[in-house]
Amino acid sequence: MAFEGLTTRLQNVFGKLRGKGKLSEDDVNDAMREVRLALLEADVNFKVVKEFIAKVKEKAVGQDVTKSFTPGMVVIDIVNKELIELMGGTQAKLAKSNRPPTVVLMAGLQGAGKTTLTGKLAKLLQSQNHKPLLVAGDIYRPAAIKQLQVLGDSINVPVFTLGDQVSPVEIARQGVQQAKEQGNDYVLIDTAGRLQIDEALMEEIKRIHEAVKPDEVLLVVDAMTGQEAVNVAKSFHEQLALTGVVLTKLDGDTRGGAALSVKAVTGCPIKFASTGEKIDQLEAFHPDRMASRILG
Ligand code: GDP
Repeated sequence: MAFEGLTTRLQNVFGKLRGKGKLSEDDVNDAMREVRLALLEADVNFKVVKEFIAKVKEKAVGQDVTKSFTPGMVVIDIVNKELIELMGGTQAKLAKSNRPPTVVLMAGLQGAGKTTLTGKLAKLLQSQNHKPLLVAGDIYRPAAIKQLQVLGDSINVPVFTLGDQVSPVEIARQGVQQAKEQGNDYVLIDTAGRLQIDEALMEEIKRIHEAVKPDEVLLVVDAMTGQEAVNVAKSFHEQLALTGVVLTKLDGDTRGGAALSVKAVTGCPIKFASTGEKIDQLEAFHPDRMASRILG
């Protein structure tokens, strides 16, 4: 798992604090300076870092850590709680419509891992006794339809496609219709991505959104791209009212910036973390577990 650099740095800071019987205000300030640098180096948004440090300091003063018998532990506990808050507090679950099917629209840039995630989510839903239908709405990337079909076949989940000559809006609409007719309780619509955000991409996905009124709009972002992932999330959210973010490639050499900034910057919770290329490498995103991993 990722975040090694950040974890090592935080462990150093907290190691020093733990070793001290009493903490002066200067000790706390020094430690916070180091935590601040560690977060910035992990590519966390600078405003997010500033607010985070301010909150931790305020709580440290409020709880008067300098008078505590285990001041280091108290500071670590405060940091842990604030990290959890920063990532959304509690686990944000996938939407479930009380009038099935639940329609999930996938958004994101090309290469972020959208198609892979669509397959992974189908597998996860299947393991929870749901009956998902996949809809191949990415008609532009060569082989995207085939990729989804191969994924679907591998887990025995049906894939709805109308080839690459019909508009994605129509494909999405008919896909949802088919799910209704065949009793699928989840419809996962894969959509096209571009290398960067462009107007045509936004316009098209907005039209799909209007046509199928999804219960869930998941933005898939590559966590390896750090702050860029957060910027992408912000732009998409401004145009498309996202309901959740999925971080992919958390198995890679990720510094942590995306995981720690996305919720604070966009207000949108992270719902899942993708940790590899295999179809079962998907986890629900738990802020508390992620905070423990970060703190090591
Ligand atoms: P799309 O263009 O957004 O549909 O992206 P794809 O689903 O085709 O994924 C792009 C590449 O990233 C593929 O080679 C995937 O195998 C890979 N990929 C997707 N998710 C992950 C992940 O969580 N970890 C790693 N290491 N690779 C991933």
